[in-house]
Amino acid sequence: MPDMTQTTPETLLEVKNIEVIYNHVILVLKGVSLSVPRGGITALLGGNGAGKTTTLKAISNLLHSERGEVTKGAIRYRGEIVQGLDPARLVGKGVIQVMEGRHCFEHLTIEENLLTGAYTRTDGRGAVEADLQMVYAYFPRLRERRKSQAGYTSGGEQQMCAIGRALMSRPGMILLDEPSMGLAPQLVEQIFEIVKSVNENEGVSFLLAEQNTSIALRFAHYGYILESGRMVMDGPADELRQNPDVREFYLGVGAEGRKSFRDVRSYRRRKRWLS
Ligand code: ATP
Repeated sequence: MPDMTQTTPETLLEVKNIEVIYNHVILVLKGVSLSVPRGGITALLGGNGAGKTTTLKAISNLLHSERGEVTKGAIRYRGEIVQGLDPARLVGKGVIQVMEGRHCFEHLTIEENLLTGAYTRTDGRGAVEADLQMVYAYFPRLRERRKSQAGYTSGGEQQMCAIGRALMSRPGMILLDEPSMGLAPQLVEQIFEIVKSVNENEGVSFLLAEQNTSIALRFAHYGYILESGRMVMDGPADELRQNPDVREFYLGVGAEGRKSFRDVRSYRRRKRWLS
């Protein structure tokens, strides 16, 4: 596999050969490398348990609470080593994670939730208010629901709130974990469209973990496929979409017609990219 992680002036995030161990013994990431260019939407793809969330948490240094640890490799943001940096300091540097499962504060209103995203900022109320309006412009639904208690809003609204709250920290990069999870296809489409416009208009880069390969490869520029803690393939999104193995095993469209994504035995036999 070509080394796609060489630092260039355009590289914003670089993960080089990291290993993650949980509970001192469970080796989950076995030498994962990836890079996200400035202004890019990069997809991190893979099935259940492949290690996508672990990779994102390794970057944002959220593994400690899970008894996980990066034991090898390096993580750089804008060329600077960020391993071991307190997550709040990392937010200050422009990297923020939107966790899987949305995680809004249920007892706060949508607007209060959004404002919590600005807590690390020191540029004054005017700037924060302007960004609140920017978030409402991207998510008109959040403006309509701004006075509602987040716990009573729909799954889609909570996902929008979680992304909106991340935007309130004025990030350079958002690590977005499984935004499609549990949402109806039409809503997923809407959320990805908004991610695309935020990327294009605000210059925010995204590293997007997704099991939904089909939608992720339509919106991302570049993709990495992770399996059992190892990168097995990477390439421009258009190329991955045309790749016969990706089509068969991740998009469910094989040469012999439609095939189940979960047809693990046949999958293992044909895993050409590992041999
Ligand atoms: P999903 O889409 O299900 O979240 P994922 O690709 O994000 O999958 P991870 O959540 O990163 O995968 O999990 C990767 C592996 O690490 C799995 O085998 C999982 O069981 C294991 N794992 C995750 N968290 C822990 C933990 N706190 N302690 C031990 N093992 C863990």
